[in-house]
This record gives sequence, structure tokens and C-alpha cells, in this order.
Amino acid sequence: MVGSTELNRQCFCCREPFEKQTMLRLVLDDKGHLWPDLLQKAPGRGSYLCMQVTCLSRLNDKRLRASAAKKGQLICAKRDLLFAQIQELMAQLSTSYLQMHRAAVGREACLTLVKTMKNVQFLLASDAGKVIERDVETWVQQGKRTLLHHWFSVAELGDVFGRDKVSLVALQNKVVFQRIVCFSEWNKRLGEVG
Ligand SMILES: [Zn+2]
Repeated sequence: MVGSTELNRQCFCCREPFEKQTMLRLVLDDKGHLWPDLLQKAPGRGSYLCMQVTCLSRLNDKRLRASAAKKGQLICAKRDLLFAQIQELMAQLSTSYLQMHRAAVGREACLTLVKTMKNVQFLLASDAGKVIERDVETWVQQGKRTLLHHWFSVAELGDVFGRDKVSLVALQNKVVFQRIVCFSEWNKRLGEVG
């Protein structure tokens, strides 16, 4: 029983319980500024947000803000500013995940990996192009492989790995891949709402 309640947190916006790992933790610093705590480890009082589009769009709602203030809960001062902070942090974290964990970088390295490994996760740059996309889709069909169309562009993925351009990366670490999938989904929703 303790285990199941430990895993869930109530969204301060919709009041529904969600798995903690799928939520965004927001922390108030001692200067009264609200910060997204993507790693859920920062000290201080935290509130959890479910990150569904309905709740993201309600963050500027006056009634929600008034009732949350009355209960002493945290609500961000400016939604746009918070969204920009979240997006910047997600990009930073994705970059360090990709740099820290073993990744095959570029089409040729990925092809080599595909020949020897079944469980591979691919991150394809948003502007990688149809030809390479078709290649990866074939590889995915051939094995236990997952493809994510990442929001990083070819140039941005290139920056991550200190190259000119990178259109494709293969990751073997499933946990890291799942975090990036989650960030990618959040990024899409923030774009829809903002
Ligand atoms: Zn919610």
C-alpha cells in the first residue's frame, strides 16, 4: 500500500493522481521564484503538475491561481516564462543524457549497431529527411526497435556531438530513451498550449 501511494502525486491543477515520474515538479526558491525541477531532486517545497494539455492551458486561469494562493500552493507567475524555462531545461538534459550515455552517432554507426543488436532505440532529427526515415523504419520493423522523431534538428543534434550535422542517433539505454520520449511529448504539448 505504501509503495503505491509513494509513486503517485496529485496534480495541483486537476487534482487527479498520476505516477510521479510522468509529472513535472515545480519548486519555489527562497526569493519567491518558481522553477521547474525536471530531476525531481531540488530542495524546497514542491508541487506536481500532470503536464496534460488541459492543465497546462489552465496555468494562467485567475480562479485557479486565486484558490491555489489561498491554499498556499505554488503557481507560476508567468506561464510563458515557465514554459520557456521548461523547454530550455529539457534541451539541456537531453543533451547531457545523449553525451553521457553510449550512443551510435550517424547513419553508418547506427547501421553497424543494427547488424549486431536487436534492442535499439533511435532518435531521428526533426529535419532528417524521408530517405533516412525510410531506412530507420525498415530497421524498426526488423527488430525490437523504437523510433522517436526528436524535436532536435540535424544542426542541433550535430552540436550535441560536436559535429556539423547529425540526423540519426541510436541509444541502447532504455531509461534514458524513455526520458527523452517524455520530454519530446512535453515539448509538443507546450507548443500546442503556448
Ligand atoms: Zn493535471
